[in-house]
Amino acid sequence: MPTPDDNLAFAGNSPAGKARHVAVFGSTGSIGRNALEVIRASKGALRLTAISAHSRLSLLEEQAREFRPRYVIATDEQEAAEHAWQGLPKGTQLLVGSEGLETVARSEEIDAVLAAIVGSAGLQSTLAALESNKRVALANKETLVMAGPLVRKMLDDDITDESNPAKSERLLPVDSEHSAVFQSLGCGRRDEVARIVLTASGGPFRTWPQEQLAQVTVDEALAHPTWEMGPKITIDSATMMNKALEVIEARWLFDIPAEQIKVMIHPQSTIHSMVEFVDGSVVAQLGPPDMKLPIQYALQYPNRMPGVAQRLDWTASHSLTFEPADFDRFPALELGFECARAGGTSGAVLNAANEAAVQSFLDGELHFTEIVPACRSILEAHNYEANPTLDDLIELDRWARQEVITWVFA
Ligand code: NAD
Ligand code: MG
Repeated sequence: MPTPDDNLAFAGNSPAGKARHVAVFGSTGSIGRNALEVIRASKGALRLTAISAHSRLSLLEEQAREFRPRYVIATDEQEAAEHAWQGLPKGTQLLVGSEGLETVARSEEIDAVLAAIVGSAGLQSTLAALESNKRVALANKETLVMAGPLVRKMLDDDITDESNPAKSERLLPVDSEHSAVFQSLGCGRRDEVARIVLTASGGPFRTWPQEQLAQVTVDEALAHPTWEMGPKITIDSATMMNKALEVIEARWLFDIPAEQIKVMIHPQSTIHSMVEFVDGSVVAQLGPPDMKLPIQYALQYPNRMPGVAQRLDWTASHSLTFEPADFDRFPALELGFECARAGGTSGAVLNAANEAAVQSFLDGELHFTEIVPACRSILEAHNYEANPTLDDLIELDRWARQEVITWVFA
């Protein structure tokens, strides 16, 4: 329930001048912890009303003690049963199991959901938040990779809902590239966009020769040169599958054909992405590699506020370089473009196959250079469907994971 200080008027607050009540799903992860820093620094404009985690429940409980949210969700029932839960504040309700995510996503007490769960486990709660007209700050790119056509349809239906024109901007990207594109798109009309240029750091193996890639160890793949992130996305950055997933994410988020999306290597990770307009003008968004900025932008949109994100140092020299992406050494990229073109069930299969293959690599069962071939083989074997339902996608997600296990042990 709202508390009295919710009604204080903060500069640049939500239209009614009230605090925005935020649920952070995946609050113990890399994005989640950054989000809590943003909320802590928001001077009350953002109020943390729900948090969730699958593991590291001591950290979840510590977060609850500091922020006193209305809900704490422990999605893994076994972990939750083994945790002592001695320190939850009074007034905080504990929900156990992943259904708690959907209950909270649909709750009237929540204005915005930061979808920061990793992988397809984040899909259903994100869809629930969108269905119940919540603002969604989307870090979980897997939602758009898996269910891009379904989400696109929901957003298109919004635009035709004249009673609430603002609804069309309720899915706000947190992925730094897409946040940069979203910000740059404001410089022209949609029919004036010639292309979107997604930048990529190139990951830790940008300069490695092909032959060496087969010997990559887990530790080498987990050492990202510019970003600190969770393990799954860090491996995806090393294979460049992350950029492939981002191509698919951009295709559905901005409703732009794959032919108008380009990937450029930019090792400094300072330009987060660009939009080229039909007159040849290129608009970019820059900043140090720090996820707090796109998280804050998505949660506070349309307002910009002073925050805790790092800033560029204008007393130092900077050089910004670009290289074309190497599709031979990083074959994941081609897969991303293929799935962005094919749509339908292809994104869900690629996503699930990749999640399972990355896990197999982390478990020492698969070589680094086998991750992408495993994904391609499963994608080619799947029963493509142009207009899948959510149930079809969930079933294919399960099927593709099983196929990876068969592929690994064949
Ligand atoms: P992470 O591994 O650090 O954190 C994941 C969070 O999800 C944790 O809170 C964990 O408890 C929770 N979780 C894990 N499995 C779950 C399950 N089965 N059910 C419910 N919750 C579960 O991951 P991250 O790096 O913070 O990434 C989160 C999402 O944000 C991913 O989709 C990633 O692609 C995206 N993203 C991350 C970054 C980044 O800088 N880390 C940048 C762009 C996009
Ligand atoms: Mg990104």
